[in-house]
Amino acid sequence: MGKALIIGAGGVASVAIHKCCQNADAFNEIMIASRTKSKCDALKAKLDGGRTKIQTAQVDADNVEQLTNLINEFKPDVVLNLALPYQDLHIMDACLATKTDYVDTANYEPEDTAKFEYKWQWAYHDRFKDAGITALLGSGFDPGVTGVFSAYALKHKFDTIEYLDILDCNAGDHGYPFATNFNPEINIREVSANGSYWENGHWVETKPMEIKRVYNFPEIGPKDMYLLHHEELESLGKNLPGIKRIRFFMTFGQSYLTHLKCLENVGMTSIEPIDFEGKKIVPLQFLKAVLPDPASLGPRTKGKTNIGCIFRGKKDGKDRTYYLYNVCDHQECYKEVGSQAVSYTTGVPAMIGAMLVMNGTWKRPGVNNIEEFDPDPFMDALNRWGLPWQESDNPELVE
Ligand code: NDP
Repeated sequence: MGKALIIGAGGVASVAIHKCCQNADAFNEIMIASRTKSKCDALKAKLDGGRTKIQTAQVDADNVEQLTNLINEFKPDVVLNLALPYQDLHIMDACLATKTDYVDTANYEPEDTAKFEYKWQWAYHDRFKDAGITALLGSGFDPGVTGVFSAYALKHKFDTIEYLDILDCNAGDHGYPFATNFNPEINIREVSANGSYWENGHWVETKPMEIKRVYNFPEIGPKDMYLLHHEELESLGKNLPGIKRIRFFMTFGQSYLTHLKCLENVGMTSIEPIDFEGKKIVPLQFLKAVLPDPASLGPRTKGKTNIGCIFRGKKDGKDRTYYLYNVCDHQECYKEVGSQAVSYTTGVPAMIGAMLVMNGTWKRPGVNNIEEFDPDPFMDALNRWGLPWQESDNPELVE
């Protein structure tokens, strides 16, 4: 039994909140606090009446004093940050000021540089440790479940993992020529940046979308996928002893890539502010305003996602290959919680991470990435709460 303060009321938060309410034995009380209070109230109106008591509040998560006051009033056991990566450090500051455990799904990114790295959050480690509070970083799907899968593979299947390929396939079709499945600003910043992978202890940089492969995904079929930089590569490179290479691939359809290229070519994906009719505007933020709201894609999206990890390494001196993945159906998710699978596959692990920190199963004062914890309770919870995993000992490999 515990109390969680959930910050944000967007696509991912909505799923996590539905799941907290399904899991009322763990979450007997939640507060939903976000910039736009009406979105928090709408979620409360939809979910009120169950065993989880719900309150709402308005908060600017960039204002540490406001956050600190809110935490002091509500006294949660855990703060689940489902706002945007820009808010991470402010929310961590408020957790430190109030000695409250912290969970998020995406690492800090400064608003003026499209560069996501863990260094800013890792710098809080000693202060969290001294305060006796736990920070769990990256409890979504990727990062999140991919880190739990890695810890599980290392614990049960390998002595050493040498090669890891993370494959993120979304075969959902929303019927629009161009839309992003989660926050467009974050999504476009991620895919228009240079790619990179981790090899023999250092980064190898690629041009955006330079490396393409085709992979035959279980339950989906062959899809084009492209190598991207992704945040979990940084922590897994540190936390998997003996790892030689980690790569991350995401599938994109041709229509998405053609639109993105065109938007890039005309300057619409830039994060440099420009003067427009006497006002400064950021082209990417303007683009976000004209694109479909990811939350509106739920009813339209059909098809499946398949996200997983292919491991290669050694067990008892012999070579071994192992694939762990989850397949999730957009329409099933929509039926259950009113959101498509991209929000679902992030919101469910966010709820599970908050539960394990809150009930003390994952107590580890300091700032920790998800793969640093015992994976077994999380793996069980995935099966129980809607993201069952599958495994294979002889997957198709990525060349
Ligand atoms: P949305 O844009 O749908 O939701 C973000 C929410 O945060 C909105 O409710 C927004 O308020 C609120 N917010 C933004 N700024 C502030 C602020 N200063 N103070 C208070 N609230 C604020 O994003 P998503 O739900 O798609 O994504 C949420 C997080 O999940 C992101 O960090 C994203 O990077 C991460 N993510 C992680 C994944 C993973 O697998 N690890 C996958 C997908 C997403 P308002 O309604 O007013 O705009």
